[in-house]
Amino acid sequence: MLDQTRIEALRNSAVPPALHIIDGERRAASDGGTMDVLSPLDGRVLTTMARGTKEDTEAAIAAARRAFDDGRWSSLPPARRKAVMLKWADLIEAEKTELAVLGTRNNGTEIGMAINAEPGSAIATIRYYAEAIDKIYGEIAPTDPAILGLVHREPVGVVGAIVPWNFPLMIGAWKLAPALAAGNSVVLKPAETASLTLVRIAELALEAGMPPGVLNVVTGKGTVVGEAMGLSMDIDVLVFTGSGPVGRRLMEYSARSNLKRVFLELGGKSPNIVFADAPNMAEAVKVTASAIFRNSGQVCVAGSRLLVERSIHDRFVEDLAAFTETMKVGDPLDPSTTAGAVNSLRQLEQDLGFVEEARALGRDIRTGGHRILEETGGYYMAPTIVTGLTPEDRIVREEVFGPVLGVIPFDTEEEAIAIANSTDYGLAAGVWTADLGRAHRMIRAIKAGVVHVNTYGGPDVTVPLGGVKQSGNGHDKSLHAFDKYLDLKTAWIKL
Ligand code: NAD
Repeated sequence: MLDQTRIEALRNSAVPPALHIIDGERRAASDGGTMDVLSPLDGRVLTTMARGTKEDTEAAIAAARRAFDDGRWSSLPPARRKAVMLKWADLIEAEKTELAVLGTRNNGTEIGMAINAEPGSAIATIRYYAEAIDKIYGEIAPTDPAILGLVHREPVGVVGAIVPWNFPLMIGAWKLAPALAAGNSVVLKPAETASLTLVRIAELALEAGMPPGVLNVVTGKGTVVGEAMGLSMDIDVLVFTGSGPVGRRLMEYSARSNLKRVFLELGGKSPNIVFADAPNMAEAVKVTASAIFRNSGQVCVAGSRLLVERSIHDRFVEDLAAFTETMKVGDPLDPSTTAGAVNSLRQLEQDLGFVEEARALGRDIRTGGHRILEETGGYYMAPTIVTGLTPEDRIVREEVFGPVLGVIPFDTEEEAIAIANSTDYGLAAGVWTADLGRAHRMIRAIKAGVVHVNTYGGPDVTVPLGGVKQSGNGHDKSLHAFDKYLDLKTAWIKL
């Protein structure tokens, strides 16, 4: 439930400067450097944050290493870690509205989505892994009776987590919660344009009783802090959500340093496929619009390519454009807003650049295609639908990461599959059909980490999320996420 009175009270409240959290302390950058934090709501300075240095990053990694090696967290009985994490989730819940508003002012996500997707999702995720960790057992191998073969699960050590700006708390919690529940220490690097809420929940972790040095946060530039993490000899596992180019760089850093394991959750260009026999066309129209336009399309699994069976193409696009024009874009702190601000001016210019290119190629901009509410100083873009595209157009091959939907017609199931699988990505997909056999054939044929049927988006923490092809490797969410944070160790004992 949104507390509108509280939201309005917080709308213009002063935001204290964000500092690093290193070894249980709030610390300024070693050279005193700070960065302005701009709000995408009005383009004004919201606050400042510490501009992390290589030294800050190394101090955080050293603190995490000490904390891991002396067992202050890693050697606690899992039930004790669970108690601290449940308290942590309770403290986040007590500040849910404050965190949602702070996050919205920092990254532009509409509050109606942010309240559940950000603090709400972080709370659920922390509780899920806290509850899971004292229910995970080792194994006894079916060996010759003269031998006892035990398989232990041990925390990997120091985990580095680098996260993006679109859902900092949700994606941050997907990494932090299983890593910490498993007994690891963590160094977290939030994105430049969405650090404030992650710093705050790290302060709450200390308040909940998490020992100093177990969860460290270093704010600042990816090219400084992120690079120092990537090249560190003392981070055992690096987990990342972000863009492909940075993901590639992290693999290079690993190769140049200690061969740390690198798990990547990268972008997508996810196909949302509507067959003429979709069971509820009105619902398909509505959900198709939400799947690309909520959070201004800044969603890794966004259904950014719409594939529509040719016999219903024109009607579907017409209804979709009409529905899209009813969506309320603007002030993200207004609960009736369906799409808030684009995260940064740079991102907005990039989104508009894709549309300009399509326009120059003579493609049809059915609705949107321009910046709006410029007088506010904020970064807003009208939800945009582009038709008349070919599968080769950049707008349907590359990730825009903005409120831009490219539409492609198809004639047969085989053609839909071929187009769906024709990009370098494989993160998510949607299929709308009343034919159960077709639904299952599509689930098998589409190369993606998740295939939605007759809906799009919304899977919770109980199911894994991960990409195939150039969308990444490894999984967040579900018990499978522990695979990244727990090592297997064999004990082979002669009896
Ligand atoms: P980004 O790759 O630019 O930045 C991600 C993080 O990497 C940030 O914290 C940034 O500071 C850091 N970084 C940048 N340069 C670095 C370097 N040289 N070394 C180490 N770290 C560095 O991505 P973004 O713009 O923040 O986020 C948008 C991207 O994230 C999109 O491509 C989107 O699809 C992807 N994404 C993927 C998922 C998923 O689950 N697959 C979820 C959300 C976002």
